[in-house]
Amino acid sequence: MPVHFGGTFAHQETAHTLVLPILGSTMRAITLHRHGDPSVLALEVVADPSPGPGEVLVRIEACALNRLDLFVRNGAPSLRLTYPHILGSDIAGRVVGLGAGADPSWQDREVVLNPGISCGRCESCLSGWDNLCARYGIFGETQGGGYCELLAVPQANLVSKPEGLSMVMAAAVPLTFLTAWQMVVTRGRVTPGDTVLVHAVGSGVGVAALQIAKLHGARVVALARTADKLERAKELGADHTICSADTDWTKQVRAVPGVGRRGVDMVVEHTGKDTWGASIELVRRGGTIVTCGATSGWDATTDLRHVFFRQIQILGSTMGSKASLHRIVALVAAGKLKPIVDRTFPLADAALAHAHLESRAQFGKVVLEIGS
Ligand code: ZN
Repeated sequence: MPVHFGGTFAHQETAHTLVLPILGSTMRAITLHRHGDPSVLALEVVADPSPGPGEVLVRIEACALNRLDLFVRNGAPSLRLTYPHILGSDIAGRVVGLGAGADPSWQDREVVLNPGISCGRCESCLSGWDNLCARYGIFGETQGGGYCELLAVPQANLVSKPEGLSMVMAAAVPLTFLTAWQMVVTRGRVTPGDTVLVHAVGSGVGVAALQIAKLHGARVVALARTADKLERAKELGADHTICSADTDWTKQVRAVPGVGRRGVDMVVEHTGKDTWGASIELVRRGGTIVTCGATSGWDATTDLRHVFFRQIQILGSTMGSKASLHRIVALVAAGKLKPIVDRTFPLADAALAHAHLESRAQFGKVVLEIGS
């Protein structure tokens, strides 16, 4: 059966993009058969998944991209994928099927998915830290994700989608808001009046961290490389905006009223090597740096004298608990947090969407629209 391959990059034919006859019903999916540049993302027809015990089948309508997708696509020594692999962690859609034992009240409901999968039974899971579970995984990384039309998922991962929120906007919420929530609230314990420095505010995590810090009464100093992004950050509530492309950006942070030699209370770090030294110098005595990533490189240097003499707290953070997403989605429904969508692409143009995210030109999320 011939398949229409849309999109420029997705058009590439390889030995792996052959469409084999599949019995039963099929769906479209962007699959990965090897690591590489965006051209390895191929549109294929694959067999529909079916929900196992305790699972539901979700018809996906939107799936947002994350930097994680680029990381998985590019490959890393620690990453072992089962091919063909389907990317995509941030998923919104409708429940269209139930596995054995699944609660029938979910049938036909619109949902947004918790991207983290865990055992649900261990000490970490039962204490509300499912993202510390030894068996923790993420849709699109450790197992198949949402660059496709149907996905079987544990019922425990479902969160009701607020009615007024479109599928695209809903898909723009989970991973980055969960990550930023754990960084700023759960781990960082932000308090009213804190000054929070947010690196790369135009990124998914940056946009979320800015809003979450503001919601908790903090004052936000936002960094980005272009005037356009800084303007958008101001519209979202940033109190002070500084261009991180300026060579004297750290001086400009110190020039913010109340920062000076004292420093900021919290730094939201996800840029890594390029900014790490400055983050350590800019945080106040007893202040907190929370790190969830290292887009510019992981092998940063830490001057330990700053850490012990000035009693800095360096906190690692990955994802967030399932419980947090319920709170986040309620705040989105109430208009207190806003998913920001930069641009959408049709599923077939996933490669173009990756190239766009890789260009770092975006402000907010890049989302794939899926479905009829
Ligand atoms: Zn567990």
